[in-house]
Amino acid sequence: MSTRTRFAPSPTGYLHIGGARTALFSWLYARKHGGTFILRIEDTDLERSTVESVNAILEGMTWLGLEYDEGPFYQTHRFDRYKEIIQTLLDTGHAYRCYCSKEELEVLRAEQMANKLKPRYDGRCRHRSEPREGVEPVIRFRNPDEGEVVIDDCVKGRVVVKNGELDDLIIARSDGSPTYNLSVVVDDLDMRVTHVIRGDDHLNNTPRQINILKALGAELPRYAHVPMILGADGARLSKRHGAVSVMQYRDEGYLPEAVLNYLVRLGWSHGDQEVFSIDEMIELFDVQHINHSASTFNPDKLLWLNHHYLMHGDPLHVAHHLRWHLGQMGVDPTDGPDPVEVVKAQRERNKNLVDMAQSSLFFYRDFETYDEKAARKNLTEQSAPLLQSLTERLQSVPAWRTEYLHAAVEATAEAAGVKLGAVAQPLRVAVTGTSVSPPIDITLELLGREKTLARITRALQFTAKKD
Ligand code: GLU
Repeated sequence: MSTRTRFAPSPTGYLHIGGARTALFSWLYARKHGGTFILRIEDTDLERSTVESVNAILEGMTWLGLEYDEGPFYQTHRFDRYKEIIQTLLDTGHAYRCYCSKEELEVLRAEQMANKLKPRYDGRCRHRSEPREGVEPVIRFRNPDEGEVVIDDCVKGRVVVKNGELDDLIIARSDGSPTYNLSVVVDDLDMRVTHVIRGDDHLNNTPRQINILKALGAELPRYAHVPMILGADGARLSKRHGAVSVMQYRDEGYLPEAVLNYLVRLGWSHGDQEVFSIDEMIELFDVQHINHSASTFNPDKLLWLNHHYLMHGDPLHVAHHLRWHLGQMGVDPTDGPDPVEVVKAQRERNKNLVDMAQSSLFFYRDFETYDEKAARKNLTEQSAPLLQSLTERLQSVPAWRTEYLHAAVEATAEAAGVKLGAVAQPLRVAVTGTSVSPPIDITLELLGREKTLARITRALQFTAKKD
């Protein structure tokens, strides 16, 4: 039987780091086994589900490159099918209508609490044959009384739950709508899911889901419950630990492959290897090696990986992402050097694409003002004649290429009897507005003749005005 996995988010917010990791694990497992990865949108909670969230989840999956082979399926489109299964369960005696009122259930609960018993439905409607006037019943699954449910979880190992501890779960509300556990079971069954990989916050639901599957005579999938992600303080990862939305990482200048690499290592390991290409992840990933305990989110490591991928990634690919960030900053990347060359020049000193784009803006548009400190130090009476004589040399370089540009700066310094930096640094401030940029010859080559000369002129005017 071929492997079929699914990612089943509830669209009540953005795609968060934890969800993305679950999606990645499911995707990897399907890819590794040449199987099928399904996306299912669990939107039955009509009050909390939104179209915006669905779009945010789809956008996140696309950005990460987690392509699904089937779906997205929407649970709200499958209500008829859920009703059909509910009817089957009623017909076969695996479910019954429950007419208990809210008040009655509250009394039951209070009694159990008073007797120090775990509050649970006692099945009193199991044998009720007469409807109650004016009460729209819910439908409950008739959980077996005897025996136990054994889950051989790929991550948690063997988990055994006694049936006596499970009560009769509501599978349809009084308006007929199916509840969460019912729709998950029907979908996993219909979609022939072989491996349910999900957060361990769902482990409690699993014995109930297994009992419903058994009642339907279905074959059981394998389960892998993935431990949660914690912040550095040991609390469950949340907004206060920083970005938790995948798209926020895009916005903050991360590459998708860095996020994927980070996520795969968050709760899974292969020896002490840290860097994994997608192909390696697919080859090496195994649910059996998912960590048994929670993992701690480490933003520094993610940043380290991001820098790694900026440094070693194909510049063509990195440039694709840099263009997007330049666009976000209102820059047209065709108004200046090829972003591929900018990536090569900038990647060493920038750990994320926002910084890279920010520090490359000067290539594409004139800056408004000089960095104050840099200008005060470098655009001075002393540097003006140097820039002036450099201009003449630059105007006559045989070609606008690093070797000639470098020679022009060097010759200017030599002629004036000053160090290279005494020319290069004022030049840098003149053309970039700041005191940091790639090596000056590369900076000039990328900036181009026209912009370079115009900016030196502007710097000289600035210096003249200042005095
Ligand atoms: N919809 C559930 C959630 O977002 C996941 C259900 C499942 O994976 O079985 O938490």
